[in-house]
Amino acid sequence: MATCVLIDLQEVDLKIDEMIKRWRITDRAYGNRDGLKKREKQLELVQSKVHSELTSHRDAELIVDGIRTKITEVETKLYGGNVRDHRELQDLDKELTFLKRDGEIQELQALELLDVLEKTQELLSKLTKILQKDSVNWTLTQERLVAEKERLTRDLGKLKTHRAIVAKDIARPALTLYERLRTPKAGRPVSKVERGMCTTCHVSVPTQLEQKVKQGRQDLTCNNCGRILSG
Ligand SMILES: [Zn+2]
Repeated sequence: MATCVLIDLQEVDLKIDEMIKRWRITDRAYGNRDGLKKREKQLELVQSKVHSELTSHRDAELIVDGIRTKITEVETKLYGGNVRDHRELQDLDKELTFLKRDGEIQELQALELLDVLEKTQELLSKLTKILQKDSVNWTLTQERLVAEKERLTRDLGKLKTHRAIVAKDIARPALTLYERLRTPKAGRPVSKVERGMCTTCHVSVPTQLEQKVKQGRQDLTCNNCGRILSG
């Protein structure tokens, strides 16, 4: 019965280790805004792109407006009847043709800039929605993580109380040996003997040694893997 207690202790300790591991993972995840920060950065970049494209489009429209004003001025001169000189009228006509052509080019450019701007604005609105959704999810995740941490802390407390009860039944030398072997044996310092074999390393255990283990000795180790043998 006594050796069974030692293997029970190992079971409890393995559960405790697992729970501590989960607690640490939960703790690391709690408050982590890396994903959100990445999205925010992305949104900022698109916002500044919208800003600069908006300026470019406005500038292009100003140029178009300027050309339109100039066209009206030239047309007034050309058709107003005040200019009668043939040469001067010819020059005005040439200027008007040039202005109209330039106006068309500039208008086309302004339209292209508007198209680019609208696409970026669309992306901005999409990213804004994603970020809003992510923010809501983040808050929900935080609430879940807090609850998970609280639950793990509670369960860990219960397990530690249980461990103290189990450890109380184990003789001091066996307990000392167990504690000493825990780290080098990666949390599994106890191995069962079944059908004359150590169940961890699968090497035969001498009959005499097995008998002593079955009688309840809990300070004997496997000749091969060095773990405490348990009946
Ligand atoms: Zn072994």
